[in-house]
Amino acid sequence: MESSLDLKLSRYHVVTPPVLDQAAKRHVRLVFATRTATARVIDAASWADVEAGRFEALPGAIRDDLVADELLVPAAEQELDTVLSRNAAAIGADDTHYIVIQPTAMCQLGCDYCGQSHTSRQLSEADQDRLVERVATEVAQRKGLRTLFVSWFGGEPLLGLTVMRRLTPRFQAIAAAHGLHYEAKMISNGLALGPALAAELLGELAVRQIEITLDGDSAHHDARRGKKSGAPTFARIVENIVHLANRPETPKKISVRCNVDRRNAGSVSELIRLLAAKGLQGKIEFYAASVYSWGNDAHLRSLTAEEFAAAEIGWFVEQSTLGFRPAVLPTRKPVVCMAVMPESRLFDAYGNMFTCTEVSYVADYGVPNRYSVGTLAGGDDAPAVDLADFNSRIAAGTLPCTSCRMLPVCGGSCPKKWLEAHEPCPSAKRNIEQRLLLGYALARREQEAIQEPAAAQAA
Ligand code: SF4
Ligand code: SF4
Repeated sequence: MESSLDLKLSRYHVVTPPVLDQAAKRHVRLVFATRTATARVIDAASWADVEAGRFEALPGAIRDDLVADELLVPAAEQELDTVLSRNAAAIGADDTHYIVIQPTAMCQLGCDYCGQSHTSRQLSEADQDRLVERVATEVAQRKGLRTLFVSWFGGEPLLGLTVMRRLTPRFQAIAAAHGLHYEAKMISNGLALGPALAAELLGELAVRQIEITLDGDSAHHDARRGKKSGAPTFARIVENIVHLANRPETPKKISVRCNVDRRNAGSVSELIRLLAAKGLQGKIEFYAASVYSWGNDAHLRSLTAEEFAAAEIGWFVEQSTLGFRPAVLPTRKPVVCMAVMPESRLFDAYGNMFTCTEVSYVADYGVPNRYSVGTLAGGDDAPAVDLADFNSRIAAGTLPCTSCRMLPVCGGSCPKKWLEAHEPCPSAKRNIEQRLLLGYALARREQEAIQEPAAAQAA
């Protein structure tokens, strides 16, 4: 609805039903402006004015806040164009040269939902030389870079440690030659990540972010994330996480991911309690993710999107109660993933190049892999499947993202899953109202905790 102020309510918003704010004794609505990822509390009467287009009836300060949040936007604005042009600008202004390297095609684990075919292949020395030369050339050509960022991925990257050790100083030298910051992260199963390796990773290898997966309590984890031999892995991985989290090196970010399907959903709470009992609050970030198809049928055992979204709110509450600070509200996501970043590539241990992290070593994608964009030895090829044009597809209206209020904080989630006809919508699409309510409750609780000492003093 338009008003005489030439404003309209942005379509990119989420609002809760009225809730009674007990302390303030008034009904409020919680509103989330996805264009700016800003949450706001607004009294129910003012929100009624907003929804009715009575913007001139709003107190000036409230109206100004809503304009600043981009909840109220110019009436003539084509909002999808604005969001997509900001996304394009963010991709264009990217100051990080981001690459993903799979130093090996091997993994010790035999996770039953994994889509990769593992072999003992390591990135050859000849391909390492080609990779270094390629990165040096690209970094020299790109303007405005600030960071060279490597993501070590697998298989299990720690089984390709020799490659990591050879490549890291060479990348650091390239970064230094161009005045860039060098940094790395690693996605690891955590099994080999003992104290000595942890020191090396956080030291010489400049790894600042590490993500490790635990799939529930020990029984559930070991039933699906054991070694290929079937041997259990949970106890060792937990031991390694606890050590890593308590090391003094900073900055470092440790994420613990729990892949969830019907079989282990009931044990996520037990895992959260175990991580809390180990004193990992404030030292790790925990999150759950639904198992999805990795070129296979693993998604057939997943919770439905609605079931996962409902369960996740419970896991947020449990984490908060135990002293963790889960990321309840999504943030702005102008760059959906590396698939839309023109210079980003994944290099697998065979020297193949991809623009997506979930396609290498997947037999079902054929020989040659239909997502391949070339090889280190042969150079770049036009992809048989183009993921890079994703934002154009949203602009053209061929995806539900075109009309989705979550687009600014979701980005469209996963170009590859859309192509494979698996709806990739993040859980926030289905539980954003509950997330808003929980975020509000947590903020109130913190306020009360801050105010309590003063109240006690006054008493
Ligand atoms: S992936 Fe789903 S939640 Fe995200 S913008 Fe597209 S339709 Fe919306
Ligand atoms: S296309 Fe999907 S799976 Fe591939 S990198 Fe992007 S988000 Fe990940």
